[in-house]
Amino acid sequence: MSAEKCIFCKIARGEIKVDPIFENSEFVSFRDQNPQAPVHVLLIPKTHYETILDINDEGLLGRAIQAVQTSAAKLGLAQGGFRTVINTREDGGQTVYHVHFHILGGRYMQWPPG
Ligand code: 5GP
Ligand code: ZN
Repeated sequence: MSAEKCIFCKIARGEIKVDPIFENSEFVSFRDQNPQAPVHVLLIPKTHYETILDINDEGLLGRAIQAVQTSAAKLGLAQGGFRTVINTREDGGQTVYHVHFHILGGRYMQWPPG
């Protein structure tokens, strides 16, 4: 999927409007359109990487975790906790090939996942 046609790149470029939970020059987080928990937010880097296997910027994941921290705090999830998920390729259940962190909370998360 090229960055031109990528749905999350369109969100990152502002071509598809979302109500951001958190946004800076490098990341934006917004609610998942098909929530799997009372709170289900996606955090994306604005740069197009298909999967975490394609990330070549070693600092990006650390900065992404900072953005997860800020998003979770804004969502009121920091106290009770939440689950952060990155699905990778077919066996990981990835459907959108633009790196994204799922932030899931507002209920107890079962383990193991399906
Ligand atoms: P994946 O299965 O790749 O880990 O997760 C992709 C997620 O993106 C799914 O949870 C799906 O509901 C969400 N999603 C796909 N397209 C859109 C969209 O256009 N807007 C929003 N807000 N979420 C999307
Ligand atoms: Zn993209």
